[in-house]
Amino acid sequence: MVHRIVILGGGTGGTLTANRLRRLYAPAEARITVVDQDDRHVYQPALLFVPFGLADPDEIVRPRGRQLHAGIDYRRSAVDHVDLGGDAVHLADGTTLAYDVLVVATGAVLVPEETDGLDGPGWMDKVFTFYDLPGATALAGALQRFDGGRLVVNVVDMPIKCPVAPLEFCFLADWYFTERGIRDKVSLTYVTPLDGAFTKPVASRELAGLLADKGVELVTEFNTGTVDGATGRLISYDDREVAFDLAVVVPLHNGAPYVGRSEGLGDELNFVPTDERTLQSKANPKVFVIGDAANVPTSKAGSVTHFEGEVLVENVRRHLAGEPLDASFDGHTNCFIESGFHKALLIDFNYETEPLPGHFPTSLGLPLLKESRLNHLGKLMFEWLYWHALLPGRDIPGVPTAMPTAGKVLFPVLTHKEA
Ligand SMILES: Cc1cc2nc3c(=O)[nH]c(=O)nc-3n(C[C@H](O)[C@H](O)[C@H](O)COP(=O)(O)OP(=O)(O)OC[C@H]3O[C@@H](n4cnc5c(N)ncnc54)[C@H](O)[C@@H]3O)c2cc1C
Repeated sequence: MVHRIVILGGGTGGTLTANRLRRLYAPAEARITVVDQDDRHVYQPALLFVPFGLADPDEIVRPRGRQLHAGIDYRRSAVDHVDLGGDAVHLADGTTLAYDVLVVATGAVLVPEETDGLDGPGWMDKVFTFYDLPGATALAGALQRFDGGRLVVNVVDMPIKCPVAPLEFCFLADWYFTERGIRDKVSLTYVTPLDGAFTKPVASRELAGLLADKGVELVTEFNTGTVDGATGRLISYDDREVAFDLAVVVPLHNGAPYVGRSEGLGDELNFVPTDERTLQSKANPKVFVIGDAANVPTSKAGSVTHFEGEVLVENVRRHLAGEPLDASFDGHTNCFIESGFHKALLIDFNYETEPLPGHFPTSLGLPLLKESRLNHLGKLMFEWLYWHALLPGRDIPGVPTAMPTAGKVLFPVLTHKEA
């Protein structure tokens, strides 16, 4: 029997899953179909660099189909809805795809319209996001025109993709304005709904210390209710205000809207309830979930998606073979944090272990939670690895799927005092 495997989404997770499955099964054993609504695969980590002129928008986009190995069927259409009871996907072009296994890899979408005023007056004029390509490109022009004043970076609420990216934006802005010789004319403020700079205590203290070192004011527990682009104010639900001349906002994220139209598949935000160890959906045993679409309690990051790939593909195989699933995904997350001036930090953690100092992957490796030029080179190299190792579904030598503990300092003495 030829297994029918349908993968929804041809981004990071869908592409690497399809390529891994294609290697696992001969064409006579499985028909693999990837569905995506467009043919532009954006290397999203570079969106951080576009506003500062450090990445060219044209060079971070490639055709989706070309990232898929021979023998994978690529269907270009939006998904309309999934019929869980009928084991079928209904596409917006009117066709239906029946499946034995469905992989949901449709990521997260930005919903600026869900915050009062955010996409109203001032949007794309003095209120921007760098979380999509049009926003990042427009922001590059706005930064060039910005000669001084209050620049505010705001996360409306979690979850968001790559939760360190807005912090990186602050660090790069400090560098950018220093290079332009106008740093003393710019006030930088980071406004977050969290009670610190980051979610996990040790990293939160280190990153708050770094913000302070770079003269970035930190405003915490700020739940943005309104963005008033006309008067230049963020207003929280408890009526606090932060004034700005230029705002860089990370909007609310939801899962893809079709998830909401697919009875039983998603939660109230259209993310898909997923077993955090096996990556099987809670809705139906034939459905597996990878990447930002899943509601698992780890970061929405390409590195996580890569680590999930190995366990997910093994579990698709086990499910089709009638074997018990592998429950070994540990939530491993690995993120470089650009800090400007050709330096970066690295954090590595999982469901149980918060980001700790030390070295990765062993005591001789890259420094953790500490600025270094080596980490910056690692961040730059990640782009090459993305196109040539992650997407083709290859393992990265020296970077294991399960979080390594060998180089970590389990009882750290902190560099920065509590903020
Ligand atoms: C600014 C920024 C910086 C980042 N930096 C980093 C970083 O440094 N390191 C890191 O590891 N990660 C980073 N990330 C996160 C990383 O890019 C994502 O976590 C990763 O791409 C998730 O992969 P995915 O497959 O879940 O989603 P995506 O790659 O977004 O793919 C989802 C796909 O689903 C398709 N789709 C959605 N709805 C439908 C529909 N109805 N019909 C058909 N197709 C549909 C979309 O077109 C898209 O191709 C960053 C993200 C951003 C925005």
